[in-house]
Amino acid sequence: MTYEAPPLPYAHEALEPVIDAETMRLHHDKHHQAYVDAVNKAIADQPGLQGKTIEDLLRGLDQVPETIRSTVRNNGGGHANHQLFWKIMAPPGQGGGGEPQGALAEQVVRDFGSFEGMRQAFEAAGARHFGSGWVFLVMDPRAKRLEILTLPNQDSVLLIGKPALLANDLWEHAYYLKHRNRRPEYLKAWWGVVNWRYVGERPQGIREGKKQL
Ligand code: MN
Repeated sequence: MTYEAPPLPYAHEALEPVIDAETMRLHHDKHHQAYVDAVNKAIADQPGLQGKTIEDLLRGLDQVPETIRSTVRNNGGGHANHQLFWKIMAPPGQGGGGEPQGALAEQVVRDFGSFEGMRQAFEAAGARHFGSGWVFLVMDPRAKRLEILTLPNQDSVLLIGKPALLANDLWEHAYYLKHRNRRPEYLKAWWGVVNWRYVGERPQGIREGKKQL
């Protein structure tokens, strides 16, 4: 079994004007595909690792031979992160944008004071992060609190055992064609494509052990 980049759940141009079609083409068809190809190549002669889900491969990173461990961490992480990223977005006005509803909305208010407070903290963490990486809204499974954190490179939250509800890509390939060097502008515009209906279903899926990605 080899890993595959799932097709986008919408057209390349569907996230315009927040994310342009050319960025989506390069990002999904080239960058994500390159991570998938590289992790497949790394485990091609490792029968003990083949057949594992990407979640299990990353959670069990310490069982991966040291010679390929960082390749698996970077490219397996890249596959996991992007797989989540495409799913939590939707076209603006057609599922993308707006606010969380129901239980998630209540938890956001409890942990951040308001939806606006959470958004500002998420944008600030993403803007502050040095270099490439990701900004996440995660669930701390012990404290049962929402938390915002960033990770470098293509590190996955699966490495730290904190399932993500939201993830935004801080690599320049995610925003540079349209937003150039203005990462904060991209982070602010990105709320217009967040699929809150799907994000709101994630906590239950995570509790039931289904939706890690
Ligand atoms: Mn990316």
